[in-house]
Amino acid sequence: EGVRSLTPYQPGKPIEELAREYGLEPDEIVKLASNENPLGPSPVAMEAAREALEEMCRYPDGNAFTLKQALARYLQVVPSQLTLGNGSNDVLEVIARCFAGPGDEVVYAQHAFAVYPLVTLAIGAKGVEVSAKDWGHDLPAMADAISDRTRLVFIANPNNPTGTVEGETAIRAFLDRVPERVLVVLDEAYCEYLAGTDDDVDGISLLRDYPNLVVTRTFSKAWGLAALRVGYAVSSPSIADILNRVRQPFNVDTVAQAAATAVLGDLEYLERSREVNRKGLEQLTAGFADLGLEWIPSAGNFVAVDVGTNAQEIFQGLLEQGVIVRPVAGYGMPRHLRVSVGLAEENERFLEALKRVLERRE
Ligand code: PMP
Repeated sequence: EGVRSLTPYQPGKPIEELAREYGLEPDEIVKLASNENPLGPSPVAMEAAREALEEMCRYPDGNAFTLKQALARYLQVVPSQLTLGNGSNDVLEVIARCFAGPGDEVVYAQHAFAVYPLVTLAIGAKGVEVSAKDWGHDLPAMADAISDRTRLVFIANPNNPTGTVEGETAIRAFLDRVPERVLVVLDEAYCEYLAGTDDDVDGISLLRDYPNLVVTRTFSKAWGLAALRVGYAVSSPSIADILNRVRQPFNVDTVAQAAATAVLGDLEYLERSREVNRKGLEQLTAGFADLGLEWIPSAGNFVAVDVGTNAQEIFQGLLEQGVIVRPVAGYGMPRHLRVSVGLAEENERFLEALKRVLERRE
């Protein structure tokens, strides 16, 4: 029944598809639709990936020994706390499959990341969606929503597509109210962008105080490896042990393991990613202000802008101009478009196209 009620995850429109539809050249198209890293890959990761291809006829290391060692060192945890996934989406699904089932309840917020309802319904559990507050998670209301049947809570911090972030005090106050039998997943896919800001929350530092907490992260965003699909969970060793029993044995391939291990050593790339993002967000929001548009202040590598009642029409208009962004009506946000932060010239192309489309509508 849950599976029948599912609508599939809608990824950003691929460049090649748009090029064919509108007779455009792929290099004329700007895609700011999937919260990818606009810098291109780290050269260090690239080199490691090329070398790893030599091993393509062998199975990957199913326990990802080298990557886990490097990651544990980077995060200052022990390898037995880690569970790797084919992107963090895979990890989120494994968590749901391990800890909830038919008849159980899973709590998440309105406008929260689309994969939470998806994995919840897929396992036959019941999703309990808690109304958002100022576009963000209403954590006290989420604590109130926990019942005897609740097994799991998903919190995205920062959240996609709203870009909202909850501070450490609010998260601790929430965790203090959650019974230990309920697992809380703190999804920190965008946490690297928080570094050096007032909102810099580190879920991993909370693990010591809350044994029922699982933190998930990814190499897809600030680390620039979205195509290779590497995500992970950090938890107590006993939770990691359960997750590692259920995940597919070779869910992170050899090239992905090598690139992820290497990129952890390229802190300069990470720093550049943050810098490009910070400047790009400033550029986009200054552009919105010039156009008289409101946006939701974002802590991620994207921003949701309110383009009026008909965001779908603006989305279409932008496509015709060769600019792909993401409509978020499926998240209950029909007036907004989510725009990923690009390079300066891509952001400029988007803002110019947006201006033309809005003027045409007037
Ligand atoms: N969590 C959030 C909040 C996200 O926005 C995304 C990416 N869209 C993911 C998890 C999953 O990313 P990945 O599977 O590439 O690690």
